[in-house]
Amino acid sequence: MTYKPKLYIKTFGCQMNVNDSEYIVGQLVKLGYSTTEDISKSKLILLNTCCVRAKVEQKIFSLIGKIKKIKENNPDVLLGICGCMAQKEKENIFERAPHVDFIFNPSQINNLEKIINNVVKYGNKKYISCENTPEFSLNHIPVKRGSKISAWIQIMRGCNNYCSYCVVPYTRGPEQSRGASEILSEASNLAQNKYKEIFLLGQNVNSYGNDLSHSVTFSKLLELLNNINGIERIRFTTSHPKDFSFDLIKTIKNCHKICNHIHLPIQSGSSRILKMMNRKYDIDYYSSIIKEIRNNIDDIAITTDVMVGFPGETEEDFTETLNIFKEIEFDEAYTFIYSNRENAVASLLPDQVSLQLKKERLWKLIDLQKEMSAKINKRLEGKIFEVLVDKKSKKHIENQFSGRTETNKTVVFTSKQDLLGELVMVKIVKSTAWTLYGELIG
Ligand code: SAM
Ligand code: SF4
Repeated sequence: MTYKPKLYIKTFGCQMNVNDSEYIVGQLVKLGYSTTEDISKSKLILLNTCCVRAKVEQKIFSLIGKIKKIKENNPDVLLGICGCMAQKEKENIFERAPHVDFIFNPSQINNLEKIINNVVKYGNKKYISCENTPEFSLNHIPVKRGSKISAWIQIMRGCNNYCSYCVVPYTRGPEQSRGASEILSEASNLAQNKYKEIFLLGQNVNSYGNDLSHSVTFSKLLELLNNINGIERIRFTTSHPKDFSFDLIKTIKNCHKICNHIHLPIQSGSSRILKMMNRKYDIDYYSSIIKEIRNNIDDIAITTDVMVGFPGETEEDFTETLNIFKEIEFDEAYTFIYSNRENAVASLLPDQVSLQLKKERLWKLIDLQKEMSAKINKRLEGKIFEVLVDKKSKKHIENQFSGRTETNKTVVFTSKQDLLGELVMVKIVKSTAWTLYGELIG
């Protein structure tokens, strides 16, 4: 048996990072590595990082600190840092943690062999490979996907929006769309490999194609993907409200494979705060899009991202956030405490909100959202939904499976037959704020 050096990889942050890690693993498996969950057995440790909020960054630096011991015991072990924090901090990482061997960004995944050789063969320690490529392509990079049912497809990278709180435009660079033909061929390949669902990723999918010479808009791309045989469901994230078009609403309505779920980050319920956030819409505009979506698409689920404690957020501003949540009734919300990021201009704003107050507001909002989600889910009891089965019970309960409705709600049910990867009909018998419980029909 040939010896394969072991790779330990830990991923922080969003789906984009998780998908980048799938490419990193694919590339390293091609180079002869095999993966391990046991860091002490690894020859190569990679941390794929996020720096959207300070807390995650602290967590990553603390893990880098712990890895020092492993490297002291075994100096041959390599430690590489990639992802957003690597791009943002670059040589600062070596200053804080001299035991880190190399740093690279997602554009450099296909250069991993060269990067590792530079460190190992040529002793080029503290190696940085963070150049952005002029075009965004994932062609020819092998990928090791975590699921055999649902696959992420990155359609664009970077962001041009410069929301005043956010580091992403600085870490991921300007928007770069992937050519439509490359995306379509990836989706066709996935269909041939029996994948049922594709999940399109980008920081602002609505501006897909703006930087390309071809005239395929995001709506057009969805229509083309909708024609691929074998793919049953199409999801996408994230949409920016300022670019959400009526054309897209029409496309979602007309293309039956596009799931009835839209994730539309609101960020705040106060137009005053939205202006300071540089979001380029106000609450009336946001509400009008929600109305337009609901008037045109039946039974659509709407989820959101929201932040509390942006600098200068008063009690009145926060009350406006609570009020709009009651009015819109989101199916789910990802709630965040505003975190000061040094590159982002909001960090220079006066009237920073105290951590105590931020926490109080966060809990108020979470409690409200829980109440709303529970209310919405209660209405679904007794109804029948098509569910794509994607997991066996997390708690190892015999015959228990879970899957998702088109509206992205998790449904738990039992079946004696292994239904992973199947589309089945389930009648909802019980609900909580986060989960539906059902019985298999037929
Ligand atoms: N591009 C997406 C958009 O426009 O909404 C989201 C990308 S961002 C990585 C994901 C979420 O993190 C944002 O929607 C926002 O709510 C949150 N976020 C970004 N910067 C933050 C910060 N400095 N503090 C707290 N939350 C932040
Ligand atoms: Fe960050 Fe705003 Fe870009 Fe989203 S749209 S990634 S929140 S700058």
